[in-house]
This record gives sequence, C-alpha cells and structure tokens, in this order.
Amino acid sequence: MANSVKNDSPIPVADISGAELETIAVRAGVHRTHELEHSEAIFPTSSFVFNSAAEAAARFSGEAEGNIYSRFTNPTVQMFEERIAAMECGERAVATASGMAAILSTCMALLQQGDHVVCSRSVFGTTNVFFEKYMAKFGIETTFVDLTDMDQWRSAVGDNTRMLFLETPSNPLCEIADITLLAGIAHEHDALLVVDNCFCTPALQRPLLLGADIVIHSATKYLDGQGRCVGGVVVGKNQQMEEVFGFLRSAGPTMSPFNAWVFLKGLETLCLRMKAHSESALDIAKWLSSKASVEAVFYTGLETHAQHELAKQQQSGFGGVLSFRIKGGKEEAWKFIDGTQFLSITANLGDTKSTITHPATTTHGRLSDESKMRSGITDNLIRVSVGLESVEDIKKDLQLGFVAAGLS
Ligand SMILES: *Cc1c(COP(=O)(O)O)cnc(C)c1O
Repeated sequence: MANSVKNDSPIPVADISGAELETIAVRAGVHRTHELEHSEAIFPTSSFVFNSAAEAAARFSGEAEGNIYSRFTNPTVQMFEERIAAMECGERAVATASGMAAILSTCMALLQQGDHVVCSRSVFGTTNVFFEKYMAKFGIETTFVDLTDMDQWRSAVGDNTRMLFLETPSNPLCEIADITLLAGIAHEHDALLVVDNCFCTPALQRPLLLGADIVIHSATKYLDGQGRCVGGVVVGKNQQMEEVFGFLRSAGPTMSPFNAWVFLKGLETLCLRMKAHSESALDIAKWLSSKASVEAVFYTGLETHAQHELAKQQQSGFGGVLSFRIKGGKEEAWKFIDGTQFLSITANLGDTKSTITHPATTTHGRLSDESKMRSGITDNLIRVSVGLESVEDIKKDLQLGFVAAGLS
C-alpha cells in the first residue's frame, strides 16, 4: 500500500485507499507541487493565470478542470476538503469561513421558502438564533424539540419538513440522540438529517456511516484544536455538496488558504488529541462524581449517564467536554470559576488549553428563565472543556475552585 502511486496525480503521492482513520487523517488529500514539498503547500493567491484565452474560456465553461479564483477553489483548501471528506466517509466536503457559514451555506443551498426544519433545542446558541430569526425571515419555519425525545421529533415532522438538525452529544449537558433512528424519521419524509459533529469529530463519531445525510463542523473547535483559526466545513454526497459549493461560489463565505493549512495540520493530530481529551475527561468526571459537593456530573463516559450504552454504540470515545452542578447557586459557581488559576475562562471549547464556562450567564444567557429551566441550564452548572494539560494539574486547579466556593 505505502509505495504504490496514485494514477491521477502528476506528482507521485502514496495511495492510501483502504487505510485506517489515523492514516487518512495524516495522508489523505495530499497533492504535491513540482517542488515535492513534504508538508502541504499554502497557496495565498486570489486568482490563477491561464496559458491562453482559449484555456481561460475552457475553465470558465467547465470544459477544462482547474482553479480560476480562490472564492471558487484553492489548492490548499481543496486538500483540507479531501482529507476531511475521507475522514467523515463522505463523497465530498466544502470548506467555509466559519462553522456558522457552514450552516448558512447548507440551508441556503438545500432549503427554500415554505420549507420546514425540525431542530434540536440543545444546539449551539447562534444556530438557534440563525434558524429562529434569519431563516424565518425567508419563510423557512423551524420547530424546536428536545434532543432525546423521539416522540417530539416524530410529531414535529410534517409534509413540508426538509431538514432535521441536531448536535450529539449536546452542549453543555452531554445528552445524545440515536442518529440511525433520526435518519429513519427524516428519510420517511424525504428530509435530510444534518448532524453538527463538532463535539465528537470523525475521530469519535461518523454520522454519515450511521445514516445521516450531511455532517457540519465548526473547524474552529477540535479540528484545529489549538485555538488559532475560525473555519467550518460541510460533508455529504456529491449532488448536495455541488449545491452547497454553488452557494459558496456565489455568496462568498469561503475558507482562506492559510486557515485551510492550519486545519490540515490540526487533522494530523486529531485522533491522538481526541483520545487524550477523552481519557482526561473521563478521569475528571469520575473524580468530580466522588465529591460530596458535586450534585451531578454530565458526561457520556460515566456508566451512570442515562445514555451511556447508546454512546458506546455510536461513538468510539466520549470526548473532552463535561459539565457538573455544584452545591449552591450562581454566586458559588462564579467563585468556583474565579478561584481556578490556569483554566481559561472562555466560552470556547475544543482547545489544548482547558476552558471553564458558566453557561447560564454566557453561552446560554440569552435563554429565558423558563427555557433555561427546561434545558437544565441551572445557575450552579459549570462546563469544562478538558484540554491537554496534565490531568492531575487540572484536578488541582479545579480543587482551587472548590475551595474558593467554600466547598470541598
Ligand atoms: C462554535 C460552534 C459553532 C459555530 O462555529 P463558528 O466556527 O464559531 O462559526 C457551531 N456549532 C457548534 C456545536 C459549535 O460549538
């Protein structure tokens, strides 16, 4: 396998068809220039030149393949797209300027006025706003349902439902939904199942293999994993991705070549990182569970998690994000957060640096008290995205939080 040559490439690149995910993450999508560089090249160019007027015309008409302008295609961005498509087991990927641009492009390309969307209530806050405020403006209505309540999904789907949208596991309470079951519900109604796979990444969960039609990523999180760039990607079948690409080409929220290069490098360590994030998160979840001052720990890796068995079935690991409720309210939670020393107080997640967040007053602060109650976003809830520092040091830092909150 290692030394065979891919036929369609002008420069020899190893053929990795049939390889394992760890190999794909490092080797897929590589296209070398005549310099034979080992690491992928960055092409910071807005446009490309043609050898003749006839060649220009042929590229514009689509008769000849090749780059024209970086709003359409760029070689570095294409390498990232090929690699993530291979990792998610999709036919094609389309990279976008951000995770939200991935959601926007998917909806603009595949929905139209009068269509209906069913969306999990427990999605990224801005996704909520996007459907509720902006899609509604263009005559696309969204019904929000509880992620884990299959009856709600079933009864929300109607004749004009074209899309079901969810994140699993959810943020911050780590609830999960059965992707195969939801794909069944979607397909009975000719609707698409779209999964935002940001929390697990293809290293731990591949929704397309479970029946989903489209996977969306905020590459900003674990795909980069080191907090450097904002980006996104949509993965799915050729036919739908051609529509998404068409929207991107016309509307412009494309990924920059530099960011694509950063994400390519991020993918190379993704499997290793997700394994390490998951191991540390499980260790910390168990440690938190043993504390008398902790009322509840939310992490799918715990055997006490209501959906632990389902998580084991559809995920190959449990990820790096967990949350927990401490004894007390907002005051104790804030004291706890302020009491930690190196954990970064930020709403971001999926970074080598551990982060700590108070969802009720930040990421979920816009929700009404009733919605917060309903979604379990209590004032004593703290979310931690477990990074790659020593797990013992992270526990020590969290212990400072307990002490600062007057807990033990
Ligand atoms: C951050 C995030 C997004 C939005 O991605 P951006 O890159 O910030 O636009 C979408 N979905 C989930 C689950 C996220 O965490």
